[in-house]
This record gives sequence, structure tokens and C-alpha cells, in this order.
Amino acid sequence: MKMIGFAVRGRKLVKVRKPLPRLRPGWALIRVRLAEICNTDVEILRGYHAFRGTPGHEFVGEVVEVGGVSAAARKRWVGKRVAGEINVRCVAYGFRPLCAFCKRGLITHCERRTVLGIVAHDGAFAEYLALPVENLHFVPNSVSDEKAVFIEPLAAACQILDQIDIRRFPSAAVLGDGKLAQLVAMVLKAAGLRVVLYGKHASKLALARDAGVATKRVRGDASDLARVKDNFRLVVEATGSPTGLALAQRMTEPRGTLLLKSTFHGAAPVETWPIVVKEITVVGSRCGPFAKAIALLRSSKVDPTPLISRTFALKDAPQAIAHAQKRGVMKVLLRNN
Ligand SMILES: [Zn+2]
Ligand SMILES: [Zn+2]
Repeated sequence: MKMIGFAVRGRKLVKVRKPLPRLRPGWALIRVRLAEICNTDVEILRGYHAFRGTPGHEFVGEVVEVGGVSAAARKRWVGKRVAGEINVRCVAYGFRPLCAFCKRGLITHCERRTVLGIVAHDGAFAEYLALPVENLHFVPNSVSDEKAVFIEPLAAACQILDQIDIRRFPSAAVLGDGKLAQLVAMVLKAAGLRVVLYGKHASKLALARDAGVATKRVRGDASDLARVKDNFRLVVEATGSPTGLALAQRMTEPRGTLLLKSTFHGAAPVETWPIVVKEITVVGSRCGPFAKAIALLRSSKVDPTPLISRTFALKDAPQAIAHAQKRGVMKVLLRNN
């Protein structure tokens, strides 16, 4: 049986007909219901990770088959709506012994991991994808597909809660007004912090204010360094651009914490002396806890759906990814009908 998917060729997304993924024992075949275009997908088209497969790592889908498990385990999964963690560890490929990081429980840092739609693993811009069931999380009935498709990026925002003792921080600055920045601001606000989001797009700042987050407009260039005098004990850099990093350092108080969320392709020309002089703790932050994200959606403490700009049919994925790069556009979804 063949399916439709999209793959990276050069700097373009092209339609391909390919066989359904073959299932290893303990892996599930998932029919994608809704997928989301992330900045990482745009970066992949620009050469990030030199990935040539099917991109797409933010999705909600339905399990249609599970390989090599008991009838009871199969029944538990088939027909269920799921979201999936994107890092697939060595043990899921049958590698023995476990790598040093998996032994320590650092699965998302597995030395031999593949990453859905990013590293050596075909992703969600297709009718079907495959993931180990250990990566899957049930989506509660009360959480719509439009909300569930945000579970992966919302979990990445929730990673902050697992990395620092959030109770030490009464307030936080979030730099950036893009999708991840908005989700980070929502998560920190739900955790009880006073949050100020700094961005350069009036329409995106308005979205943040609608979610109850205070905002300040900046220019997004070096002139901000002279103009922005605010200081915070906690600053989250999520601008997706190298220039945000210098301002983020400037805005972090002495002995404060600077959390880095941007994964742009390329180098950031930035002076690092403020980190030393102010004794700033710099924390890199990537994938996060799905359970926390699902709980936030279920409780309606966070509603990311206002971030959806437009939904395209899967067959129009190339137009959708072009649209996602237009000015002012937030989340673009792909629906697999
Ligand atoms: Zn993403
Ligand atoms: Zn491993």
C-alpha cells in the first residue's frame, strides 16, 4: 500500500508517493489528522540538519496498527487519538546495550536517536507516520484536534518548568513574539508569573495581550540595546534570530537566569562578557513533558488556538509552508482528510 507524503528536495517540499512505514515490534502506525508547520520545518528547508526526508513533528493522529504486541496492547491503542514525543531512543531500534545517555534516563539525548521529521525519521507531512508506542500519549476527548496539535510545542515551553525552580521567579521577560514565544508566555503566566513579552509585530503583540500577557514593542535590531532598560531575574530568549541573544543578556539581572529556546540555523555574533560579569546562569532548553502540556490544555489554563492563522489540506503542503513564512502569519496547519 502506498501513501502520499512530502519530502525535502533542495530547498523545496515536493509530493512523493511512498510505501507505508514498516512497523518494528512495539511501533505504531499513525494516521495523521492534523499537522502543524513549525519554524524548524522552515529552517530544514534552509538546510538545518541536511534533512531530506518528510518533515513535520507537531501532529495529532489516530493509531491504526501496532506491530508485534499482544491483542490486549493492540486494542489499547488502535483507534485512539494520540500525540507523539519526537525523539526515538536506541532501544526502540533494538540496539543493545543502551547508550550512555539512555542508561542515565536522558532519553531525549540518546546518542543514536532519530527525531521525527528532523533527524533520519520521516515525519507528519504525510498521510501516515510511525513511532514507538512508548512515545505516544493519549489525547483526552475534551481536547480538540486543533488544541492537541499544539501538544509538542507546548511541551517544549513546559520544559522550562522542569529545568528551573519557577517559584524563585515572580516575573519573567519573554523575548520574541512568534509561536514558541507566545506558548512560553502562556505557560509562565499559567504558572503564576507576571510575564512581559517583547516583540516587534503589533498584531502578534495583540495576540499575547488577548491571552493576558503584558507586552512591549521593540525594533528587533541592535538599537534595542540602547533603548530597552528593563531587567528581569528570568529572561527567555525565543526570538528565533541571533540579534535577540544580545538583548536577552542585557536584560538578565546579575545572578539571573537566561533560558535559550531559539534554534536558528547559523551563528550568533554576540559578546559573552555580560554572562561572566553578571554571573548569569544560561540554560539551553528543548523538548519537554507532554503530560504537563496535555494537563494545561485539558484544564483550559492555556488555549493556543488563537495562534492558528490558517489551515490547508495536506495536498497543499508546499503552498502552506510558503504561507507560513509570510509576515504576520502564526501557526499554519495541514489537515489530512
Ligand atoms: Zn516544532
Ligand atoms: Zn540511547
